Amino acid sequence: MDRDDRAGRPGDEQPAGRLGRPEPLVSAQDVEDADDILFAHPPRVVTRWLCGCGEDYPCPDVRFARLVRAARATDTGVDDSR
Ligand SMILES: [Zn+2]
Repeated sequence: MDRDDRAGRPGDEQPAGRLGRPEPLVSAQDVEDADDILFAHPPRVVTRWLCGCGEDYPCPDVRFARLVRAARATDTGVDDSR
C-alpha cells in the first residue's frame, strides 16, 4: 500500500445526473442558468377564440365561408377596399 490513490474511488465524488447531487448548495453557474431559464420561459396566457358554434375559431364553416367570399371578391373586383 504505497500509493495514495484517492482518485480511484468508485463514483463517490459526483454521481451522474442532477438528482443525485450530494450537496444542497447550487453553484453560481446554476443560479445564472436559472435566471436565464426563468427569463426565457415566462408564463403565458393563451387566448383562444371560440366560434359561436362551439368549435375553435375559425371553424371549418367559417373557413369555407371566408374562402367563398375571398373567391368572389377576387372574381368581381375588390369592393371592400373602398
Ligand atoms: Zn363555427
